[in-house]
Parts: sequence; structure tokens; C-alpha cells
Amino acid sequence: MNLNGKKIAILGAGRSGLGAAHLALAKGAAEVCIFDANPKAFCSDAQIPFVAGATEEHAHEYKADLVVISPGIEADIPWTLAFACAGAPVIGETELAFAYCTSRIIAITGTNGKTTTTALIEHILTHAGHSAKACGNYGFPLSEVVLMDPAPEFAVLEISSFQLETVVNFKPEVAVWLNFAPDHMDRYKRVDDYYNAKCRIFENMGREQIAIVREGEKLPPIKPRRVGFSSVVSSGQLYYADGCIMEGGHPLMKLRGTTMEQAHNAENTMAATLACRAVGIPAEAVAEGVRSFNPPGHRCETVAEMDGILWLNDSKSTNLHSTEAAVRSQTRPIVLIAGGKDKGLDYTAINPMLQDKARCCIVFGQIKEQLRATFSPVCPTHVVDTVEEAVAEAARQAQRGDVVLFSPGTSSFDQFTGYVQRGECFRAAVAKTLNL
Ligand code: ADP
Repeated sequence: MNLNGKKIAILGAGRSGLGAAHLALAKGAAEVCIFDANPKAFCSDAQIPFVAGATEEHAHEYKADLVVISPGIEADIPWTLAFACAGAPVIGETELAFAYCTSRIIAITGTNGKTTTTALIEHILTHAGHSAKACGNYGFPLSEVVLMDPAPEFAVLEISSFQLETVVNFKPEVAVWLNFAPDHMDRYKRVDDYYNAKCRIFENMGREQIAIVREGEKLPPIKPRRVGFSSVVSSGQLYYADGCIMEGGHPLMKLRGTTMEQAHNAENTMAATLACRAVGIPAEAVAEGVRSFNPPGHRCETVAEMDGILWLNDSKSTNLHSTEAAVRSQTRPIVLIAGGKDKGLDYTAINPMLQDKARCCIVFGQIKEQLRATFSPVCPTHVVDTVEEAVAEAARQAQRGDVVLFSPGTSSFDQFTGYVQRGECFRAAVAKTLNL
């Protein structure tokens, strides 16, 4: 990519927009300007030209040679297209950074488990003595990693469908496909649009590269060598049985008793193991990394265990698929707390599991009436307004030997600023209710 003398419009004033601006300037751009449609947006570097409350008029006036968009911004809306009015190409921040990236790239996508797997791969590589940075959707923007001196040996890149929508030449050395299920139906018109965006991770990969794919995932024909893993069937290179990762009938790594023993985390661990193996990390170093790993919070984390009742915070569950995985991973009777914003998802698929495993459900937030109608035919369902009320109700319903699983299954924006605030609210409510 040649930026010499070019005028670059960068859309979105978040961290990746700023990273893109710094990178474009470092690589010879004549001029950059960050534009944000939000009048209250703020740019943390006063040296970079910045327009808050930018309109299509600003776009027409600027006449960019290249438009670089941040992951939260859609490529095909009139506001974005206005910046490309003079025929400028529109690319994502990932594509810009990829053009200058000298680190070996391991890219991770999937509907759920991306952050956990990205953090685990970074941890294993670092633990094994390599320099590695988690980046993309988690950690640093890739542009910041590219500007690091020295650049890390590995960029462990969490990449979402939004970022994949605008790739052109992006080609990782290893791509991990964790799973796929409907999500983001507030952004995509059809599930296929979401799926097709995700599939672009493989678009430029050839036979020399490796794709690590969960067994049973439906993918179009892809060129990279495909290696499989599963916690459900024993057909992949790695599979999970009796708390152990298995390979060819032999135990490879014991997960029982570690933070990664639940089935969905075992899948993340198998994917991370195969990715690290693909870049030459010895098996024992991988196992050591897994044993010393602390997964990021709000993902099926234990908040308390009292009077024989386990309280789990899975606030990061923002879609049905993650709640389904959390429910499937439990071995005790479940008191499920779910609810939040209406994202247009249908929850009936989870009913057979609830019928089997749930003592009751407690539903809250904007979507509570929909959830009550969905869950009540298969298990007792209590409706409350807030997370605090849900915790109080759970304390009344749960019995010794149960798990109270806070796995909302949708986003939190009807009541919270995000999953972190929602998870902290749950932790605080549990502490108050149990007098911790
Ligand atoms: P992402 O970055 O893709 O959102 P996270 O690691 O942050 O993934 O986890 C998001 C949610 O998905 C959490 O509720 C977590 O418990 C659940 N989860 C994690 N790994 C998996 C997996 N492999 N399959 C299904 N659900 C998962």
C-alpha cells in the first residue's frame, strides 16, 4: 500500500481510528483527519486533525484519497459512502495495519470464545518465551502493534465479522474458526450476511496456511489445511473426553481442575493448542501455558460458593449461543438468570436443555416478556425488573447442589453501559445478598 502524498479520512475517533491515523502518518500520508458523527466524540491526541459531529457535507469537502473505517462503523451507509464520493477506496483499520504488519499473524474468529482464545494464545506464546501481543477487537488495535518498536514476533488478532467485512489482502498465517451461530441481527439483514463476512478470514489464505476449525462447522471450500477439534465428537485432531484433551485415543492434556475445564473453554483450549502447535510451540510449553492461564472476567467466572450453591457470572454472554454453551457446560441443576436488550434473537432453541437441566429461569430487562413466553412452557419462569431483584429471587429459588448461572444471552444496553458494568452489578448484588 502506498500512502505517500495521500489524504486519508479516518472514520471513528476510538482507539483503532487513532491508531490508524498514527500509522498512516508514519507511512507517509500527506494528511489525515479523523471524522466522527457523534457531536460529543473526543480525540485523545490533540495533534491529529479531528471533526466531531461530522456530516456528509464535511465528507464532500474533504475529498479523501483513501477512507479507513473503525470496526463500529458500517461500510455501506450513506455517511461512510459520502467520504468515498470521489472514488476513494474504503478499507478497515485491520486492512491498513495488515499492509505494514511484520509480525506473524494468528487470527481468531467465531461467534463466541474469541477473547478467551486470543488471551490464551497470547499467554501461551509469551510463557514459552516469544513476544506476542493480543490485538484487534481485544487488546491493542493492530495499527498500534505495527508501530511497536521492535514489533512483536506474533500478533494474536481477535477479528470480528465487522472487521472482516472490509478486508482486501488480509492473510493470516493461522486462522481459528471457533464456532458460528446467529448474532448481531441488529446490524445484519440476514444471517448469511454475518456468516459470509466471517468466512472472509480464509479468503486470501493458501495451502501453506492453516485453518483450525471446530468439527461440524459448515464452511464453503477453503484452501488452507484444515485441522479440527471438538468437545462433542471424537473425529477431530483433538477432542475432549472425561476432563482431558485427547489426541488419537491418548490423553494430551488434563483440564479437569483447571480454569478451562468447562466444555466450551475446552474447545477454546484445543483451538489455542492447535494454533500454538502450528507456529512451532512444543507440547509441554503449551500445557504449562494452559495451566497458568487466568481467563478474562465475566465469562462463567465463579463469584461465590455458599451453602452448596455455586454462583457464576457469565455477563459476557450477549447472544443465545453463549448462554446455550454455558448451560450445556453445567453438571448441576441450574437457576438461570437471563435478559437484557431486545436484539431480535429467538430463544426457543435452548428450551430442550432448560427442560432437562434448569430448576427455574429468572428473566429481567427489556426482553423479559419474550423470555417468559419462551421459557415458561418448559420450566418455571419468574419475571423481575433488575439484576438485583433477579439475584434476590435466585437466592430464594436455589437449593443446595445448584448453580445460579447469570448468563443473560443478549446485550445489556437497555440498563447498562456494557457487559462489564452488568457483571459488576451482578457481583455486587451476590455479595450483598450473601453478606460476603
Ligand atoms: P467473544 O470475544 O467471542 O465474545 P468471549 O471469550 O468474550 O468471546 O466469551 C463470550 C461469551 O461466550 C461468554 O459468555 C463465554 O462464557 C462464552 N464462550 C466462551 N467460549 C465459548 C465457546 N467456545 N463456545 C460458546 N460459548 C463460549
